[in-house]
Amino acid sequence: MAANDAAITAAVQLLRAAQVVGVPTETVYGLAAKGLCAPAVDGIFAAKGRPADNPLILHVADKDQALELWKDVPPLAEKLMDAFWPGPFTVVLPAGDIVPANVRAGLPTVAVRCPAHPWMRKLIAACGFPLAAPSANTSGKPSPTTAQAVLDDMDGRIALVVDGGASRMGVESTVVAVQDDGVRLLRPGGVTYEQLCKIAGSVVLDDGVLQPLPADARPASPGMKYRHYAPQAQVTLYDGPPQAVQATICRDYDAGQGNTVILARGRPARYAPRRCYDAGADAGEYARRIFGLLRRADDDGYARILAEVPPCEGMGLAVRNRMLRAAGFRVVHANEIGNDKGEKQL
Ligand code: AMP
Ligand code: MG
Repeated sequence: MAANDAAITAAVQLLRAAQVVGVPTETVYGLAAKGLCAPAVDGIFAAKGRPADNPLILHVADKDQALELWKDVPPLAEKLMDAFWPGPFTVVLPAGDIVPANVRAGLPTVAVRCPAHPWMRKLIAACGFPLAAPSANTSGKPSPTTAQAVLDDMDGRIALVVDGGASRMGVESTVVAVQDDGVRLLRPGGVTYEQLCKIAGSVVLDDGVLQPLPADARPASPGMKYRHYAPQAQVTLYDGPPQAVQATICRDYDAGQGNTVILARGRPARYAPRRCYDAGADAGEYARRIFGLLRRADDDGYARILAEVPPCEGMGLAVRNRMLRAAGFRVVHANEIGNDKGEKQL
């Protein structure tokens, strides 16, 4: 249903009745439910097939509503909220007693974000309560950045999707924990590491951001332990200087069994006439397009995706974090032209 006042009224009615609704945000589409109502939140886990040990983010209208959800809020956390809210920024702090255990997957902390999308803001304000909302994909699949992508996964499982247009950022929010020893970046997203450092001074990158976690690890950010964002197609990443990456991708494409598509940064002439999707020349554009392209590769029936990844600066860190998981950490390090160091299954 196109976002308008009637759609918001319909969504509020469903949410009050503990139903699950697809909602637009500036990061990706969400699957929302009444955030402080445990049975409503159970509906999200059921619709997504999400493991019960993967906590949700509570979405609020403003900082005052957020402060009611936590126990202790250090001044640095407020400073970060003032800098980045409303926006693609999530803060993890010790949970207050009103937060149901299923929202936080039994953890003593809860993640809270104040989104910027105008229709999502209207919806939260009209509800008057926080909305629990993970990405609106079936668990493990690429996140949806359009209402149609939500329907592709959720049709028949939810009563309504509010269509607020394509998501502006394309990847999920930045998640940070604010602790006594400072700010820890748990998941890179729409607010960059560099932007965070400007406000916080220094920021520790959690181990789970760019590395696979050991099977027995207890991750700081539980979502990071799952194979995630993954299409049916097998994804391989190529890292290194652009020319070496292009040469190695061409070599592997030509040696392969066909049914392969290249995911390129921009549209290098070198890939012609091979099949190629353009992920955009800069990391911000790559972020906006990535989930749509992973879904498109499945729709187009490709079995393999050979993907360039942007450097870690700016939005590149978030793109790399998502692509590493989509690829199950399968990375080819191409260091010299036409001479790679081989595939590395990290
Ligand atoms: P999604 O809603 O699909 O974007 O996923 C939310 C992610 O935020 C989870 O997968 C976790 O990685 C992270 N998160 C949510 N709550 C917490 C928490 N209490 N502590 C640490 N990370 C969290
Ligand atoms: Mg998700």
